[in-house]
Amino acid sequence: MSATAENTFDIVILGGGSGGYACALRGAELGLSVALVEKGKLGGTCLHMGCIPTKALLHAAEVADTAREGQQFGIKTTFESVDMSGVNAYKDGVVGRLYKGLQGLVKSKSIEYVEGEGRLVAKNVIEVAGRQLVGKNIVLATGSYAKSLPGLDITGRIMTSEQALFLDFVPSRVVVLGGGVIGVEFASVFKSFGSEVTIIEALPRLMAAEDEAISKQLERSFRKRKISFKTNVKFSGVTQSGDVVTVALDSGDTIEADLLLVAVGRGPVTAGLGYEEAGVTVDRGFVLANERCQTNVDGIYAVGDIVPGLQLAHRGFAQGIFVAEQIAGLNPPVIDEMGIPRVTYCDPEIASIGYTEAQAKEKFGEIETYDYSLGGNGKSQILATQGFVKLVRQKDGPVVGVHMIGARMGEQVGEAQLIYNWEALPSDVAQLIHAHPTQNEALGEAHLALAGKPLHAHA
Ligand SMILES: Cc1cc2nc3c(=O)[nH]c(=O)nc-3n(C[C@H](O)[C@H](O)[C@H](O)COP(=O)(O)OP(=O)(O)OC[C@H]3O[C@@H](n4cnc5c(N)ncnc54)[C@H](O)[C@@H]3O)c2cc1C
Repeated sequence: MSATAENTFDIVILGGGSGGYACALRGAELGLSVALVEKGKLGGTCLHMGCIPTKALLHAAEVADTAREGQQFGIKTTFESVDMSGVNAYKDGVVGRLYKGLQGLVKSKSIEYVEGEGRLVAKNVIEVAGRQLVGKNIVLATGSYAKSLPGLDITGRIMTSEQALFLDFVPSRVVVLGGGVIGVEFASVFKSFGSEVTIIEALPRLMAAEDEAISKQLERSFRKRKISFKTNVKFSGVTQSGDVVTVALDSGDTIEADLLLVAVGRGPVTAGLGYEEAGVTVDRGFVLANERCQTNVDGIYAVGDIVPGLQLAHRGFAQGIFVAEQIAGLNPPVIDEMGIPRVTYCDPEIASIGYTEAQAKEKFGEIETYDYSLGGNGKSQILATQGFVKLVRQKDGPVVGVHMIGARMGEQVGEAQLIYNWEALPSDVAQLIHAHPTQNEALGEAHLALAGKPLHAHA
């Protein structure tokens, strides 16, 4: 088929998730002609199976806890039960409204939206149901899928997040395989909904990618919430009989449950899409791209979860925007992977940016750290939450890591990312005034202390 004008674009994007649609919107905004190919729903994992539905579940979980804990604040409330059809209706309503808004946005931007499964059939051509879309530039943005372990079939009461998002019942006992972001978020939801929860993690601690102090505090809080967890232990098998799953561990222990949630990470969706045939270098399924999101093939870019690194929606947005600007000749500054904020929305929430203490020691040698306990923060006391803000700085230099834990602390990541990305010294932040009484003050207090002029700090 020859390339006709209506099938030729400045950018052809494969995949309409966070990375792909952000690239399409920014490209159209810059006056480029854009085709966006999507086989499922515009918005991808984040909107339909990830960030948004899980955070709606976590909010419903918080409401359940609030009902349970009213007495603590002198309010007589009782927790009756969780109505999963009501929870799902609320969650689906949120997703539905955002989906409609996003569809309208793409429609309004003269983007050629092509529904169907696409494949890279030449270095500048994506084929969808026999139609060949020729791109002066191609952007690969096909995202990720929930992985399992060898021999562990996802069936019946053995689920990944994809099925667990649509449960119509609250299981009384759940085993969560994996103590990373998705595992601890679901563990938190299930516990608040009334399930007995056990997390199995092969690494020595929960949330092992975070600063060690964060893991310790999370484990303390989970113990208090009666969420069980076993670290340093490997899953060795599972059997399913009727509605019961029996999970075996290499320690010899077995655990019975009504549901096994497999949360062992996400793999790239790249197989069978023609990437390697077109000459694109792929490593264990991931597309390798340089700091300008370029693959080894001229004119082919890759963004989002298929590129090794943090699998986060806002990284995908940023890379998508970056690529559109790069193609438009704006020469955007490269994205610092360490400058991408990370939030885990379990209770208590975790928010961080930059280097952990261990990473900073390795990278910068001499460092200083300071932990500010939320015990001294008025708003955190009002909310009855515990946790801290931990700062890591280069000795006599800028803050290179901010690590926070506590209810609602995710909202503090905005200032933390400015501090890291603008390479602020503790004294720069110490002179900024933080409103009282907010949890944001804890960030201010931590910097006051690290700048040598602590206010409400005992150490
Ligand atoms: C349970 C869960 C919770 C999460 N929570 C958060 C969170 O709170 N915050 C956060 O930042 N991130 C979160 N994430 C991660 C976030 O969802 C991803 O990082 C993000 O969606 C990646 O965007 P992407 O564009 O790379 O891929 P995706 O969003 O996966 O989009 C890829 C798209 O490509 C399409 N596609 C694939 N192959 C083809 C093909 N051959 N032809 C046409 N279309 C194709 C797919 O249908 C899909 O729509 C979560 C993920 C999960 C699973």
